[in-house]
Amino acid sequence: AHLDRIAAVDGAVGAFLHVDPDNVRAQARAVDERRAAGEELGPLAGVPIAHKDVFTTTDMPTTAGSKILEGWRPPYDATITERLRAAGLVIIGKTNMDEFAMGSSTENSAYQVTRNPWDLARIPGGSSGGSSAAVAAYEAPLATGTDTGGSIRQPAAVTGIVGMKPTYGGSSRYGVIAFASSLDTPGPFARNVLDAALLHETMSGHDPRDSTSIDRPVPPVVEAARRADVAGLTVGVVKEFAGSGGDDGVTARFTEAVALLESLGAKVVEVSCPHFTYALPAYYIIAPSEVSSNLARFDAMRYGLRVGDDGTRSAEEVMALTRAEGFGAEVKRRIMLGTYALSSGYYDAYYGKAQQVRTLVNRDFDAAFERVDVLVSPTTPSTAFPIGERADDPMAMYLADLWTIPSDLAGNAAISVPCGLADDGLPVGLQIMAPVLGDDRAYRVGAAVER
Ligand code: GLN
Repeated sequence: AHLDRIAAVDGAVGAFLHVDPDNVRAQARAVDERRAAGEELGPLAGVPIAHKDVFTTTDMPTTAGSKILEGWRPPYDATITERLRAAGLVIIGKTNMDEFAMGSSTENSAYQVTRNPWDLARIPGGSSGGSSAAVAAYEAPLATGTDTGGSIRQPAAVTGIVGMKPTYGGSSRYGVIAFASSLDTPGPFARNVLDAALLHETMSGHDPRDSTSIDRPVPPVVEAARRADVAGLTVGVVKEFAGSGGDDGVTARFTEAVALLESLGAKVVEVSCPHFTYALPAYYIIAPSEVSSNLARFDAMRYGLRVGDDGTRSAEEVMALTRAEGFGAEVKRRIMLGTYALSSGYYDAYYGKAQQVRTLVNRDFDAAFERVDVLVSPTTPSTAFPIGERADDPMAMYLADLWTIPSDLAGNAAISVPCGLADDGLPVGLQIMAPVLGDDRAYRVGAAVER
């Protein structure tokens, strides 16, 4: 049924970069055989899942939305890919994304535009916009994403679905093509909170192959999603976000969600997190700095594209030609910004300063979570914007992640759940931020208030 749905709508939506129906049917048959052989499979066995094209897959191409990886077949599966297969999920295809996950609209993909199923003239969010669009368009009930600076929560918010950024280190980065390694966090998309929790539990947990993986049990997220109550919890509204810069429709739905929390028995208090407003500029130093280092591996020798290798040119010339042709404008912008920020003489002024801001954001969270169980805000300042509107304005694009980025810098858990439609008829997301390893709390509150 999902393959039929993809055949019917994906020409218009453009969520998938790769779907191979024969492979999908073979995976489904293999799950049936395992079940028939008496294997104990998890609750998601046989369920189709759309997989962001940033996770390596041995049986499907993996491009990270970049021309530089066109045609690359990974020799190994990401840990999360392995875990999906082990649990019997059927990987229905690889989804479109901003190149190397840099963007908030999926317009930075080197391959195609993905459209928001609610209004095909609008963006599905990004960078995991293929995944969010696939779930919102009923092309798959579940999807994977990665959140480095909002790339799960923002696309979930603007397509009216649930998206969770687990605690950093709670889900493995092994086999996830690196963007900014101190921030990259894989997580689930689903159409309701309980489904997201089931996928979260399936995909997460300690991985010795990821040096920053946390060696602790996965928080009890499924139990929390089933519990779905807020009685006795204290919810903090971030003062710095509440009044600043959100569209009217977003602010109205957010205010209603806070009132709903109160009516369900939560105590609501205002909390000041004075450094949150500096998180976005700090992120745009830290993330590009890590990019300039991580993307050095695309040297035309090891993977994918190679340009101008005709026997007359040096390795350096081939590398330069390949990187000039293989990387898009946003990726080049980040490599240059990061190289500059890390260069001797500027390191202390930019990178060092940004890391200090990161510490201050952490401290704001620590202080807040001494007083409250969770913090809430709108996920994004606006509903889905029109395709093309911000494509030539990086600053406007970056602002889509104003309210999601603090939790990336601090590495704590945060979920986006639908909280109704704005006056323009487009979905609004409520962000619930919980402490490090308090992922279950985000699910508990999210399940109580999702609409
Ligand atoms: N939009 C942000 C960026 O462009 C976040 C991307 C992400 O989380 N992968 O960096």
